[in-house]
Amino acid sequence: MRCRTIPVMTSSDTDYDVVIVGGGVAGCASAYHLATDHDVAIVERGQIAGEASGLAAGLVAPTLFHGSHPDVARYANQWFREFDGTQNFSFHERPRIEFIQPDSEDVARERAATLSDEGFPVSFLEPTEVEREYSRFDASRFAGVVEYADTGWVDPYEYTVALQKAAEARGVDVFRHTPVSDVHVEDGVAEIELPERSLSAEYCVMATGWRTREFLSEYIDLPIRPFHLQCAMLRLEEPLDDTFPLGRVAREELYFRGELNGDLLVGGGEYLEDNPEVNASGSGTDDEFRLHVASTIPTVIHGAERAEFVDGWSGVDAATPDTLPLLGSSSALPDEIVVAVGLNGLGMVNSPIAAEAVRSYITGEEPAFSVEQFAVDRFEDGAADFDLRGTFEMEGAGR
Ligand SMILES: Cc1cc2nc3c(=O)[nH]c(=O)nc-3n(C[C@H](O)[C@H](O)[C@H](O)COP(=O)(O)OP(=O)(O)OC[C@H]3O[C@@H](n4cnc5c(N)ncnc54)[C@H](O)[C@@H]3O)c2cc1C
Repeated sequence: MRCRTIPVMTSSDTDYDVVIVGGGVAGCASAYHLATDHDVAIVERGQIAGEASGLAAGLVAPTLFHGSHPDVARYANQWFREFDGTQNFSFHERPRIEFIQPDSEDVARERAATLSDEGFPVSFLEPTEVEREYSRFDASRFAGVVEYADTGWVDPYEYTVALQKAAEARGVDVFRHTPVSDVHVEDGVAEIELPERSLSAEYCVMATGWRTREFLSEYIDLPIRPFHLQCAMLRLEEPLDDTFPLGRVAREELYFRGELNGDLLVGGGEYLEDNPEVNASGSGTDDEFRLHVASTIPTVIHGAERAEFVDGWSGVDAATPDTLPLLGSSSALPDEIVVAVGLNGLGMVNSPIAAEAVRSYITGEEPAFSVEQFAVDRFEDGAADFDLRGTFEMEGAGR
């Protein structure tokens, strides 16, 4: 990732220092982080959080997904606790248990020990310990679970709108229902074309999710692909209480958390999306996913056999070949165009990471963590036709 070394000063020659295209969680978090000392606008074609960012299940587990880069995990863990309470946003702290198959036990134990040595509150629990600590679970057919005690969940819409409002409180302008048709750079100035006018800026941040590949195709074949993710809401006979943890059975490609009203939210059903435009603003769940939830969840959670399916939805996010986002610029892009895309089913977790990386690129400040693994140019040419790994083949999956 290339870094600018000269901090940007407000320029009277441009409308803004930074224009951010896309009012999802990546765009709103980036705006909030930049707005302390930059003149910023967000331009969104629809509503804030109107696509993937309003549809997420909201599980947040930085240590699980970024534990091999401890500084990244620590930064994100701290961020959610610091932002808690801002603009009505709540971070609901809950432990998370990852069910481990017998043939993954050695790897999972080693990983738990490594993370624990790094100072993260992570431990391996035997099935009997699981049932003692989390009595609603049946862990008998697993080797055990890896328990993360630093995780939690967010309401994704509430979180994204809190970021937008907090950014506005710092002076950010928000243009809603304003599709951007083109972004180009002339004489070192980014020109952002809106329906009836254009905006000029020192930098343009593209936080436009899966659409960014087509949008920037004249410059670069960005390795991102749209993929479909689903959620089902189940009502159990005995409602869940606030001791119910987040969890995942990676080999079954399902994850879950409790809702405040005691319902169970189950996520999964991921596949590459052929029709992203149709499903981007949300659609229902498919039979295959619902049947898989119905046959799997009762084998893990006591009393789920008679659960009632009360709601279901799906959305589209941008996947990357290695499951990590693309943050910064590229040798194929003008320096003034920055991307914050490919949040790969983990946009809530990745939002502060994306925002910090974008800020460090634009300001030239030392980032709070190493950003090399997010470099846009880290793939070979032709990497854009990859198979989906989604969220279930990321590090720590214990499949
Ligand atoms: C069912 C489901 C469950 C999920 N569960 C989780 C979870 O548990 N934990 C987690 O961390 N993540 C989860 N995610 C993933 C998370 O929602 C996404 O990673 C994240 O929302 C992506 O944010 P984004 O800002 O990149 O994209 P988006 O939210 O898609 O935002 C991009 C925005 O850009 C706008 N835009 C596009 N083109 C233009 C244009 N030309 N002009 C102006 N605006 C434009 C779009 O309208 C959109 O609002 C889930 C996602 C889904 C769908």
